[in-house]
Amino acid sequence: QSRYFFSRLATSTIHSRCFASTLVVAEQIDGGKLAPVTLNALTAASQLKQDIDCVIFGADKTAETTTQLQKFNNSNIKKIFVAENVAFKGLLSEAVTPVLLDLQKKNNYTHILGGSSTFTKSILPRLAALLDVQPISDITKVVDKDQFIRFVYAGNAVLKLKSNDTVKIITVRGTAFEATKEGGGSGQANVEKLDSSVKNDLSEFVERQIQQSERPELPSARIIFSGGRALKSKENFKLLYDLADLFPGQATVGASRAAVDAGYCTNDLQIGQTGKIVAPDLYVAIGISGAIQHIAGMKDSKVIVAINKDGDAPIFAIADYGLVGDLFKVIPELNEKLKKK
Ligand code: FAD
Repeated sequence: QSRYFFSRLATSTIHSRCFASTLVVAEQIDGGKLAPVTLNALTAASQLKQDIDCVIFGADKTAETTTQLQKFNNSNIKKIFVAENVAFKGLLSEAVTPVLLDLQKKNNYTHILGGSSTFTKSILPRLAALLDVQPISDITKVVDKDQFIRFVYAGNAVLKLKSNDTVKIITVRGTAFEATKEGGGSGQANVEKLDSSVKNDLSEFVERQIQQSERPELPSARIIFSGGRALKSKENFKLLYDLADLFPGQATVGASRAAVDAGYCTNDLQIGQTGKIVAPDLYVAIGISGAIQHIAGMKDSKVIVAINKDGDAPIFAIADYGLVGDLFKVIPELNEKLKKK
């Protein structure tokens, strides 16, 4: 009788593993590092309260990425699948997606998640199309296993959606979920190498041009000095770099789309609906009017300071502190005062 009981128990465990489990697509960035946004995705995944597997893709150094991921076992990662192949150079969607599709066919995950990034934005919609389900992008809250919150209309409305798809394919807005902290959990996750023989005749990775900077990446910076059209030139953007460099390792520079379009800075600095989403401790909007598309990318910042010569500029409506004045007078003054601190 007891044998019967145990075999029933084992069967039901296997079933629940099959029917309610989550796959987190972990992201490898330069030199085998784990992308910080993967840790936000892990937090969202753990709120689903079911077993978690992870998968890592890379052309090389996946062992390093796996070791980093294993430090976050407090999110109860059961297994880490590792797919290493030179064909994953540049993490092209055409190479990665067939492997994900295979993994899904074998393990029947109910949820597949990744942190919102260029990588997941190219991979997960392709996977969703191949599985014939609706991808759910940029969620800011997990309500339950079927219901999620996300912003629509450039952040002006909050949508609570319910998905009846058998597998939910989700990207997670990094700024909306705390990063998972390093910690123990219930033991080290097993690592399984995937047979990742890949055939990709559809695309080829040529090169990646990266802006080298000593300053932190926009999504992880604690302080952002963001400039708008009012800066008037590329040379004047130096005013903002000088401010950021007063806070080494903590501050960086962002921009409105108008500043990017005018060529004052590179487009990787753009914040907003069609740029990066940020939520630093301090966001200083300098000569930025506060169009809804810009606000969509920075409104969750903890403290917002606006500097604008027009006292009626919409940015003041969301600012915690506002300074009405000419930036070409205010910024050099601010720089001098900060240097003396
Ligand atoms: P402006 O709106 O021209 O504002 C300049 C501000 O500077 C004004 O408020 C002015 O009073 C002030 N100013 C001028 N001179 C000075 C001075 N000397 N000192 C102090 N203040 C001064 N925008 C984004 O930023 N990010 C996005 O991701 C984005 N996505 C978009 C997507 C779509 C589909 C569309 C249609 C638009 C998008 N936009 C986006 C553009 C957006 O609508 C605005 O056009 C843009 O944000 C305006 O940038 P700005 O505030 O720098 O310029």
